[in-house]
Amino acid sequence: MFFFDSTIFILIPAIILTLYAQYKIKTTYLKYSKILAKNGLNGKETAEELLSRHNLSNIKIEPIEGRLSDHYDPRQKKLGLSKEIYYGKSLAAQGIVAHEIGHALQDAKNYFPLSLRSNLVPVTNIGSRMAIPLFLIGFIFSSPALMDIGIIAFSLAVLFQLVTLPVEFDASKRAVNLLVGANIVSDTEEINSVKKVLSAAALTYVAATSVAAFQLLRLIVLRNRR
Ligand SMILES: [Zn+2]
Repeated sequence: MFFFDSTIFILIPAIILTLYAQYKIKTTYLKYSKILAKNGLNGKETAEELLSRHNLSNIKIEPIEGRLSDHYDPRQKKLGLSKEIYYGKSLAAQGIVAHEIGHALQDAKNYFPLSLRSNLVPVTNIGSRMAIPLFLIGFIFSSPALMDIGIIAFSLAVLFQLVTLPVEFDASKRAVNLLVGANIVSDTEEINSVKKVLSAAALTYVAATSVAAFQLLRLIVLRNRR
């Protein structure tokens, strides 16, 4: 993705933001994964409580491998929680569980950006894989048409990243409301801690979007130079 020439400098702010976002999520998660939530529930229990409150008990909760691999699968109606989160009793664990249930709620309520995002997945997968090779072939052989196809394909990847933002922000907003609404997290300090974990996670999506957007800008600059 990062072939080298002077336009690489266009990406530097986005790369710095990405490094900062990675640092931020790592340190924030580490901090709040050590602070136990006052209610004493583990991730699985938190999930069960929230799901049953919102009539979503049909959703299966499963411990999965990996670190921060937590996700909600709308096709299989499954909530995959990494073991650290599944068994964890920290504020970080509860925030992450509630965020994933936020996605389950989006799914249940047919939240438009989520379905748009799901529909974009197959198109974007092909698009983002083909974009740079097509562009490079067009660039090397001075074919504006091929470069344009590469740029259009890459735009789909950027669009996917853009649609991801409202989906993620909304899930985090729902997460806080879910935890407070269920009285799982109630005092201001705990609420703020959960918010910090979720904001740090959101920043990684903002960083990814900015890398994609600036990469698109870079392709356009390169094309116009040819
Ligand atoms: Zn999410």
